[in-house]
Amino acid sequence: MHLFMPETVVFEPGSLQYPLGEKIYKFFMTKPVEIVKASLSAFTRNLSGLTEKQRYARSKTILAVSVNREKKLDVCKPSADYSFKLVSNCPGSCEYCYLQTNYSYKPYLKVFVNLDEIWDTVAGYIPETPGQIVTFEAASNGDPLAVEHITGSLGETIEFFSKLQNGRLRVVTKFNNMDLITGKNHGGHTRFRVSINTEYIIRQFEHRTSTFEERLEAAVKLADAGYPLGFVIAPIMIYENWEREYRSMLQKLQEKLKNHKVNDLTFELIQHRYTEPAKKRSLERFPYTRLDMDDTRRELKWGKFGKFKYVYPKEDAGMLNETLSEIIHSLFPDAVIEYFT
Ligand code: SF4
Repeated sequence: MHLFMPETVVFEPGSLQYPLGEKIYKFFMTKPVEIVKASLSAFTRNLSGLTEKQRYARSKTILAVSVNREKKLDVCKPSADYSFKLVSNCPGSCEYCYLQTNYSYKPYLKVFVNLDEIWDTVAGYIPETPGQIVTFEAASNGDPLAVEHITGSLGETIEFFSKLQNGRLRVVTKFNNMDLITGKNHGGHTRFRVSINTEYIIRQFEHRTSTFEERLEAAVKLADAGYPLGFVIAPIMIYENWEREYRSMLQKLQEKLKNHKVNDLTFELIQHRYTEPAKKRSLERFPYTRLDMDDTRRELKWGKFGKFKYVYPKEDAGMLNETLSEIIHSLFPDAVIEYFT
């Protein structure tokens, strides 16, 4: 797919004092984009007259270059011990995206330029005791690979982790800019996961992301580059023919990977869920959505962000878990399913 290019880039105060901020500034100087030096909140005040749908569409064309001042990392179970941010949000527009809740009113894409400070914060969470491995998720607040051609910060972070005894990086993506990171020295310390789903779900709900075929190609490149490889199947949805389509998706994956050496293959399975605010926001932004958000067919579960979420009832969730696990074990006997949630 085409590399993302914003229409407006907002350099927030302090961002140009960092080498990466300057590098991004020079990158955009030669591109046909509007460059603004201001705080993002001051700049986006002008957008208050837009409808929610218009504001969301405009937000996906704005890139803010910022400084990440967080010194405390969030716990990120079950996918990792902690998460940290190189970016927040992403150029994609998935109708179900959980960021509809987390960044409900601020769906702007941000990239952070103070890499040394971010890495220092990460390093502060890693014990020196040999063998005590701590894992860090870099993609729980957005998709850093989607803007790697602008920042290069994911590649640098992969190399930072390659030198850590006890720190391991985890990244997941729906984009296929793999050529930007396959040459990096990862030292086997970064588990790269490709987010996959049935072709119906990708086509219907995952706008402005790579196609299924592009993601398969991306996975092959990661395997060939020796990255520990994983797949996140999310969000798993029940719809007409779901079982047949998930089986066919996994068969295509197996076919694609069969002649490539795959290092330590894992799967993570995540069922579709939504919160009440996310549902409201999705319906405003995608009024004709075909997402199944019928509360009467769901069960309430308490979520870590202090909100109830709607998940499939236990019986349905169990059926999804069993069916997918059985298909995965039969096609990829050596793979590990890390969790179903
Ligand atoms: S690619 Fe990921 S982060 Fe981006 S909109 Fe889709 S689900 Fe959200």
